[in-house]
Amino acid sequence: MSAKVKGIVLGGTNVKEKDRIVSLYTLEQGKISVSMKGVRGDKAKMKFAKEVFCFGDFIIEEGKAIPVVTGVDIIDSFYGLASDIDKYYEGCAILDIISKMGGESNPPLFIELVKALRALCYDNNKKYYVFSKFLIGYFNLMGYGFLTDKCSSCGATLRLRYLNLQVGEIVCPACRNDLSVQISQACYSALRLLAATDYEKLSTLHIEDDGELAACSVLTKNYEWRTGNKILQTF
Ligand SMILES: [Zn+2]
Repeated sequence: MSAKVKGIVLGGTNVKEKDRIVSLYTLEQGKISVSMKGVRGDKAKMKFAKEVFCFGDFIIEEGKAIPVVTGVDIIDSFYGLASDIDKYYEGCAILDIISKMGGESNPPLFIELVKALRALCYDNNKKYYVFSKFLIGYFNLMGYGFLTDKCSSCGATLRLRYLNLQVGEIVCPACRNDLSVQISQACYSALRLLAATDYEKLSTLHIEDDGELAACSVLTKNYEWRTGNKILQTF
């Protein structure tokens, strides 16, 4: 029995002489491991399909241990990411987040990932814009929002905001504890702008006062507290 899945290559391990076990994040089945046979040969038909970031329609068939890829229709290899080291690492940090998640299918997140890789590869986005927007989308899908006007604990209207890292919620100065970090005005407006701007228009966005750095830092801290994972260090 064969099936067609839309997938993005997250990474892989070489096995035998020319085979590769590839971790594939798919729209239909979530994260799966698949075997790609003979793909490390120079003349291999599917040699580009095994590369990280490759996005395509993969035909998979039942194998002895894991499914075997028997054909690929590449939609986008995001080849441009490989020629720009900053973009490459930003993309790797995004894929790493997906790699460390549970394996279940999550169509909205899959779409978020495709849009993020497109914006990163083809648009002239400033560093951290795409990554931060992706994390905001990721948290939204997990049910965490940062753009509230009310303290999540006492309901007071917020002027100064803190992120309580213990629970991932926005609180007022009175409700903050030792594990709360302040969200500066520049950071808050960066978060708001990034959340409100589509990936397609992200490169036209101008964030003031390095707010994207503050936003990235808060989002990273929140990610590490929520998941217990680290953001990829090279980024
Ligand atoms: Zn409060």
